[in-house]
Amino acid sequence: MTTPASDSPRSAPEPGLPAAQRTRAQLADGREIIFFDDEPRRRTVQDRREISRPVGGNEMRYDPLLREWVAIAAARQNRTHLPSTDQCPLCPSTPERATEVPQGQYDVVVFENRFPSFRGDVPIPGDLLSTTTAAQESAGLRQPGSGRCEVVCFTDQHTSQLGAVSLRRMRTVVDAWADRTAAMLAEPGVEQVYCFENRGEEIGVTLNHPHGQIYGYPFITPRTRTLLDSAADYRARRDADVFSDILASEVADGRRIVARTEHWTAFIPAWARWPVELHIYPHRAVERLPELTDAERDDFSALYLDLLRRGDLLFDAPLPYISGWQQAPASAEPGLMRLHLQLFSIRRAENKLKYLAGSESGMGVFINDIAPEETARRLVAIGPQAAESDTAQSTSTTPTATPTDSEETP
Ligand SMILES: [Zn+2]
Repeated sequence: MTTPASDSPRSAPEPGLPAAQRTRAQLADGREIIFFDDEPRRRTVQDRREISRPVGGNEMRYDPLLREWVAIAAARQNRTHLPSTDQCPLCPSTPERATEVPQGQYDVVVFENRFPSFRGDVPIPGDLLSTTTAAQESAGLRQPGSGRCEVVCFTDQHTSQLGAVSLRRMRTVVDAWADRTAAMLAEPGVEQVYCFENRGEEIGVTLNHPHGQIYGYPFITPRTRTLLDSAADYRARRDADVFSDILASEVADGRRIVARTEHWTAFIPAWARWPVELHIYPHRAVERLPELTDAERDDFSALYLDLLRRGDLLFDAPLPYISGWQQAPASAEPGLMRLHLQLFSIRRAENKLKYLAGSESGMGVFINDIAPEETARRLVAIGPQAAESDTAQSTSTTPTATPTDSEETP
């Protein structure tokens, strides 16, 4: 086994990190929990708490002016808010305290959110607008809650962060995202899967433990609908793929490229609307995370850790950010969407945050106070920040990236 050359931290790691190992179980209230382990591990899971799922409270209402759905999730008002470390529900359980994770240790764990914004397996009827009256539509169409929300914990270390995990662990996170994308898209109430992380109290996180979320929306989200419409329009007018052309244009220009590896390019788009806004495109035209090969996952893992670390060096405090994957919805026309990650921050200076005020919140028109070329230049100047050398990297190889199951202990 060889480790990545220390003078070339952006190069791809040795291929062949084995796929994460998966263990499924159920929490006491029936929610599903899935462990993704860096190395094979036998887990026996038993949640001894006496808890039940909150009932009701989830509804979707249709805005006939913007033609968008709004989720009403009143039960979320009472969810845990910034608990102290010894009350964290995402830390491992101890003999004295049972948390959401009934294990004394974990690598990566995914479980259904106890306070979901979307929950239910009733698909929205495709002919909803044509089978309702004008009076019903103007009054705000209502649908029972649908979809699924999951929490994904990146480490059991409460005070760590995603940018500090090992290369092996980052790969396990990528495997978990891909695995959950495939599983959630197969559910009847899910149309689109969004894997994302809110990082920093400035963003509004309610739990400091390093974690992200995975939303299974019951409809195509407004942003994705616009992307799909734009891609279809571009293809019709120019007989070309808009994502491929954007990537080629950015590479040709070069001023906003932050990092480029064998399989991925990270850049700030010319039209960036946030003070810091990174887009990471795979070089191969894939539509969803499960399509990524082992080599692409390994390569992304190294690149992403590098970029997260650079982001934290931009200012004198950790970068608050929102990072999420754009991927094709279930019913999207094949070949239109290009999988990509978008990471953006509201921090625009050491002690200044970008607030979405009148123009942005009221009209959807962004005003970016910083030229994208300048932010890209600063991120390039920081230089590659290698992940810690990863002794857990295994020499064994697996033919596919599908996580392997161990025992299932309900
Ligand atoms: Zn914690």
